Amino acid sequence: MTQPKRIAIIGSTGSIGTQTLDTIAAYPDMFKATVLTAHRNAPLLIEQSLRFRPNLAVIGDDALYGKVRDALSPHGIEVASGSVALTHAAAREDADTVVTATVGYSGLAPTIAAISSGKEIALANKETLVVAGEMITEMLSHSTSKIIPVDSEHSAIYQCLAGEDKESVSKLIITASGGPFRKYSKKDLETVSASDALRHPNWNMGAKITIDSASMMNKAFEIIEARWLFGIEPERIEAVVHPQSIVHSMVQFRDGAVKAQLGLPDMHLPIRYALAGAQRLLSDEPCLNITDYASLTFEAPDYDRFPCLGLARHALERGGNTACVINAANEIAVDAFLKGLIRFTQIPEIIIHTLENITFIEKPSYDEYVATNAEARRVAASKISHPQL
Ligand code: NDP
Ligand code: MG
Repeated sequence: MTQPKRIAIIGSTGSIGTQTLDTIAAYPDMFKATVLTAHRNAPLLIEQSLRFRPNLAVIGDDALYGKVRDALSPHGIEVASGSVALTHAAAREDADTVVTATVGYSGLAPTIAAISSGKEIALANKETLVVAGEMITEMLSHSTSKIIPVDSEHSAIYQCLAGEDKESVSKLIITASGGPFRKYSKKDLETVSASDALRHPNWNMGAKITIDSASMMNKAFEIIEARWLFGIEPERIEAVVHPQSIVHSMVQFRDGAVKAQLGLPDMHLPIRYALAGAQRLLSDEPCLNITDYASLTFEAPDYDRFPCLGLARHALERGGNTACVINAANEIAVDAFLKGLIRFTQIPEIIIHTLENITFIEKPSYDEYVATNAEARRVAASKISHPQL
């Protein structure tokens, strides 16, 4: 019998992380969790570790190290803490596949470590490709490492491209649910609260991506993610609003044919596909009954009400560190919106202000990405605390 594939989950306590563990539990002969990491949720990390018995558990917050160590060391589980340990966790010899399931910029360093050590990567953390897509693509071209997307749209495109010649692709069509505010006027958007924005119609996800879905920044990021993942020019990537979230994305080919991947809005499928190395595993989870969906609708997105979408186009046209700035300012603005410090419609305003105040770098090195991220966060935070400046 072949040995189970050894899986490191960077961000095991989040929405993608816990669904990855569901998948590992469902296929114990195929997968084994060897590394789990969390940021601050020590109780859940301890609970998961006692159940899945990884070799290593990492807690990001150093202050929680003692608590996690006391709970897990007696069971022979190695415990570490801090961001350096998190990065090392993605490069360990006892993992074949690394699932990048942390949120935001924090995914970048572990993904780079995984690429440098030639791992197969199940990439959920889209921000890695938003922040440094060009550099990551370049690194991948010199590595034995391979990325299989977990993001449902990109998994759909990956599945549609299987067996196809890349030269025959005419465009990628990324579907978007439109989020909870699809029908809101610009005026309505002025007064929405964080709890309104956290009520996503179709998907149950972490808070940050749920707010990004409401502002359509998530779709903006997915256009950038697709650009680097599939090497397709931005002009040939289209976003279309599909409120039912059944068609996960499509590829149009030069002969006019369009291939789509359909399924229920459930991340277990793309996670399963990525963990299995782009193979189809037998599953007994609920699956799509197409006659339940008499009507699947598609409409053009509104760039005026959702200005974050236009920012993706801008980032791709301008290149360099632009998308890194947008990502950093967005993280700060989303956090402030969740805390009730700014209005929803201020999110793009803060991003634009930050873009105007950061020096453009055409071909950033890794250190310059790090510096850009730090500086953009500082500028965005200062705009929030001193709006008059
Ligand atoms: P969650 O917020 O649910 O989980 C985030 C995970 O990352 C948790 O394990 C959290 O630890 C950890 N984490 C948070 N901040 C840091 C940090 N600064 N350093 C290290 N670890 C950190 O997020 P999701 O699971 O929703 O999303 C994860 C990624 O997957 C995102 O990039 C998102 O865009 C992408 N994605 C998510 C989808 C979904 O359905 N959820 C769909 C498609 C893509 P702790 O719990 O201890 O705080
Ligand atoms: Mg998605």
